[in-house]
Amino acid sequence: MPTHPVSKVVVVGGGIFGVSSAVHLSRLGIETILINDGPLASGASGRSLAWLNSARMRSAEYHQLRMIGIDRYRTLSAKYPDAAWLRFDGGLTWDADDASNEILEALAHEKSLGYDARHLLAGDIPSATPGIATSAVTRQGAIFNPGEGWVDLPSLIKLLVAEFVERGGQLVTDAGRATVTLATGRTTGVATERGATFAADAVLLATGSDVPRTVAQTGQHIPDGTPIALLVRTKPVALPLRAVLNTPRVAVRPTPDGALVLDSAWSEEEVIVNPDGTYGVKASTLQGLLDEASKVLEGNPELELESYGVGPKPIPGDGEPVFGRLKGTEGYYVAFSHSGATLGLIAGELHADEMDTGNEHPLLAKFRPTRFG
Ligand SMILES: Cc1cc2nc3c(=O)[nH]c(=O)nc-3n(C[C@H](O)[C@H](O)[C@H](O)COP(=O)(O)OP(=O)(O)OC[C@H]3O[C@@H](n4cnc5c(N)ncnc54)[C@H](O)[C@@H]3O)c2cc1C
Repeated sequence: MPTHPVSKVVVVGGGIFGVSSAVHLSRLGIETILINDGPLASGASGRSLAWLNSARMRSAEYHQLRMIGIDRYRTLSAKYPDAAWLRFDGGLTWDADDASNEILEALAHEKSLGYDARHLLAGDIPSATPGIATSAVTRQGAIFNPGEGWVDLPSLIKLLVAEFVERGGQLVTDAGRATVTLATGRTTGVATERGATFAADAVLLATGSDVPRTVAQTGQHIPDGTPIALLVRTKPVALPLRAVLNTPRVAVRPTPDGALVLDSAWSEEEVIVNPDGTYGVKASTLQGLLDEASKVLEGNPELELESYGVGPKPIPGDGEPVFGRLKGTEGYYVAFSHSGATLGLIAGELHADEMDTGNEHPLLAKFRPTRFG
């Protein structure tokens, strides 16, 4: 059922979902304020692997949304063909040599969807993509997905925010924690813990892992599966690697400044969450990740730690995106999802469209917060 189109929106959250939504709203001529508690890109978007993909298995609707998300990046890439922060140089993945190996099943599934996927044995890899230690590839072989890519989210956020401000959008950073203000059955805007208030007839809550907590004040439950994630950045290193690598012990992607970023499931599990809510990362975890990356790179280069980022990786409890308006609270929209790099441009576009038209977009039908009851 259509709701009323909006004339003034507050977007809370300076990660990719908030920034993308704010710029799309401003492109539609809607008065928009973008508020963030700290500096922009200080959440998950500032420490993301940001591999643009729809690899492996998921629901048909989620796959479709991701593919459209990638399409929007292709359009952006055509506008900035030389951008060092957005590359479509493919992805290469292989599994462990044990019972968990599902390379052939994943390949068959991807091919059945028309997702560009090629099965490569170790010896075939150098002719497809450079810089890989082919001896590390397991005997079942790898999948090369030539259509995949990566984005440096802080660079993209900077670009989008510059456009937002140029179009007259109001940017408020370092505002402290914001909450959504409510009156009978509708939102009235946003209030910050520092006492500032911003009136609006619609609010988009794009606060990453904080979304379920804030939404709970309306009585709407959003299950939260957010883990604490670790992203390691190496010092710049001269390597021919172009593709994003997803291997059993480490994921690796190049960065705009000639370094690498790394993550993995095992290193995420080694993060220590202290009782006061701070995080601890062991030196052995950092070194372990550098060593694992070295093993999958041609020539096994020595990699040095530049820095690391640790904190929540927003993931809804059922793994699928939570997008769109809360039922029962007029003007209250949420954006909470994993794979926010892949979905960032399309999610902002569709949220802006829904607010502008007052109509629910069919591409978001499966992802509404109301599915949780
Ligand atoms: C290690 C890692 C690897 C990843 N790999 C991939 C990948 O390969 N591909 C992919 O597509 N995605 C990946 N992701 C996921 C992707 O990065 C995230 O889904 C995306 O960055 C989330 O963006 P967001 O805008 O929802 O949240 P965030 O980037 O966390 O932004 C939320 C912002 O809101 C602010 N905020 C929070 N609460 C409040 C409040 N109450 N008031 C005001 N401001 C508030 C925060 O400070 C933050 O700036 C990865 C993420 C991580 C961490």
